[in-house]
Amino acid sequence: DKLGIALVGLGYYSTDLLAPALQMTDKCYLAGIVTGTPAKAEQWKKKYNIPDKNIYNYQNFDSIANNPDIDVVYVVLPPSMHREYVVRAAKAGKHVFCEKPMATSVEDCKAMIKACEDNKVKLAIGYRCQHDPNTQEYMRIGREKTYGKPMMIACGAGYVDGRTNHWKQKKALGGGCMPDMGVYALQGARLAVGEEPISVTAQAHVIRPEIYKEVEETMLFQLQFPSGAVAACHTSFGINMNYLQVNYEKGWLKMEPFSAYGGNKGSHSGGLIDFPIKNQQAKQLDEDCLALINGTQLIAPGEEGLRDIRVVEAIYQAAKTGGTVKISS
Ligand code: NAD
Repeated sequence: DKLGIALVGLGYYSTDLLAPALQMTDKCYLAGIVTGTPAKAEQWKKKYNIPDKNIYNYQNFDSIANNPDIDVVYVVLPPSMHREYVVRAAKAGKHVFCEKPMATSVEDCKAMIKACEDNKVKLAIGYRCQHDPNTQEYMRIGREKTYGKPMMIACGAGYVDGRTNHWKQKKALGGGCMPDMGVYALQGARLAVGEEPISVTAQAHVIRPEIYKEVEETMLFQLQFPSGAVAACHTSFGINMNYLQVNYEKGWLKMEPFSAYGGNKGSHSGGLIDFPIKNQQAKQLDEDCLALINGTQLIAPGEEGLRDIRVVEAIYQAAKTGGTVKISS
């Protein structure tokens, strides 16, 4: 039996990536939607054959508690709204998938984890790359010390966003490049080293001040790890980049792209990284649903989202003060 998933927020990522992926999954299917736009409800209902009883708006969403068709609520809203909808889904007794960035503060992440624990439901964060065998390969090389300890990492994630009036440009909705594309660069460094950073420095920049009035358009950040490894990371809404480079004691690794939806590939001192993957989001959805069905560990639970947001908070503080900010776990 497939788990029924309800998508909350029918914007770009739900429309272009998650709904199509849910047509390829074995362990789950698109059972319901939650939207504030009646016209979208009509479109989706026809396109995906969703019964009226599985269509909700933001006001009647909590009554999803009484709907046995829905096993998982997948929150795909602007980041500032993640906490509210994860908590409401948990209180409705549904397992929750939540898009990255998990939330806009450590406090919110902790409240989301607690709400899921209190209601005995699971929480997974939409870190699709962690389900990609190409990511798992650079993680393995670091973990197994194939080339000795990772010493220095460079990682960049960015794209040119042409929009001028979107939540990504609004502070109150959780915009800014750091929590959005920045978490990919942060994940690249964290996963390559296999440790949590202990201190950070950072510099925020704006290339187009007429568009980025409230949030950073670009962030450069540097991470120091307990083993002595250091990382220089870059992220931007104004520059195209998608690469990871790791220099180990006795070797190197380069991936480009490292965090795309598909086609992640690279090479290292002793070979190539180029695992085929049919659909990253379908793999993520199936693996997370299988973990729910079997009661096994999720690849990226709420705690993993919290680890990133803890560093994001420190990065903002470092950019503001110009100093080094220590991170306590
Ligand atoms: P989007 O702007 O295209 O969609 C956001 C949706 O939220 C829209 O349907 C909008 O109507 C709805 N919404 C409800 N209340 C809103 C409000 N007050 N203000 C603005 N929108 C509101 O955004 P998106 O690109 O689909 O991103 C949604 C989430 O998915 C974000 O958390 C984002 O970081 C994440 N995302 C993840 C990936 C990934 O690769 N994992 C890719 C893209 C987006």
